[in-house]
Amino acid sequence: MAVKRVGVLGSGQLGRMMALAGTPLDVDFVFYDEADNTPCSRLGDLIKPSSENALQRFIDSVDVVTYESENTDAELVEQIDAQVPVFPGSKSLRNSQHRLTEKTLFRTLGIATPNFERVTTKEELVAAVEKLGTPIVLKTTTMGYDGKGQAVVKTPADIDRAWDALQGNELIAEAFVTFSRELSVIAARDQMGHTVVYPLAENDHSEGILRVSRIPAPNVTAEKSQQAKTFITKLLDELGHIGVLTLELFDTQDGLVANEMAPRVHNSGHWTIEGSETSQFENHVRAICGFPLGETALRHTHAAMINIIGKNGDRDLVLSEPAAHLHMYGKSERQNRKIGHINIVADSDKALEGLIHKFDSFVKECG
Ligand code: AMP
Repeated sequence: MAVKRVGVLGSGQLGRMMALAGTPLDVDFVFYDEADNTPCSRLGDLIKPSSENALQRFIDSVDVVTYESENTDAELVEQIDAQVPVFPGSKSLRNSQHRLTEKTLFRTLGIATPNFERVTTKEELVAAVEKLGTPIVLKTTTMGYDGKGQAVVKTPADIDRAWDALQGNELIAEAFVTFSRELSVIAARDQMGHTVVYPLAENDHSEGILRVSRIPAPNVTAEKSQQAKTFITKLLDELGHIGVLTLELFDTQDGLVANEMAPRVHNSGHWTIEGSETSQFENHVRAICGFPLGETALRHTHAAMINIIGKNGDRDLVLSEPAAHLHMYGKSERQNRKIGHINIVADSDKALEGLIHKFDSFVKECG
């Protein structure tokens, strides 16, 4: 039986773009979320967890379930999975939502990652600083995103401040990585174990939020490109992952170093909607529904994605540019909120940079 009904835990922009990609494949969507007026409001049924018999109604209305966030309740996922399959499985979820577990997995698989130590007391923090040297990045092991729940210890004199900011949580102290830029690799694995990998993206962040992605990441050696592929393929296979997986990387003189993974479609993959033969959203839907995966090659030689953050900006400027594609998420303006993005395609590096420059106001004036 072909899978036709996908349940999504959450109803944000990632669910919206999954539904927009999956609907032409004759797939229907049901969203499980408490919020009203979400980006998914008009793209499928919404079941509110607080409503009567909500979970069972959700389970009964779908053939397969997926999720939008690595912070999804893993116990809920396992409970649902006992009745209807959830992809990616809870092994992928559990390994992604705890930074110590995640980095230990990287290490086990031979995936380069910063040296790290577990920290639960101030004494352990002092010992970690002695062992790793400074600077270190101190992070909460769970629930961190976009640089939240982090403190940098530049010298031992910063220990008190960092400890005061983060104590009470289980922490991970990571050696500070000197990198030239941040990259990400996105791949999908289907139910037969076939894998497709997208070209590396170069990601510019500001205040911990992704602003611009360029694809393919410029000037990547064949060696590093292969390294990224090897890293993500090892992870996909070890996790028995089904769906899209993203791995964020630091580019260093000694090769790529893994920072973190996300068991889901990713902001640095939004360019794939017009930039690739098959978008990350469509490949995710294909994988979880048991359909064959699609090509990940670029449709033009270059692509970019610019996030629209906080304010709507000059939409007409985007709509008047044939090489640009506007994607709004149906969200109201709010500081630091991702409310849309612009995808750009181009046939040369110069043309791409010219177009990114044209939409500079979206990066500079965002609130
Ligand atoms: P994360 O929440 O782990 O993605 O970290 C947010 C940002 O902090 C990353 O995008 C990097 O710019 C920076 N960062 C995180 N970990 C390290 C590290 N070990 N060394 C240097 N910079 C880091």
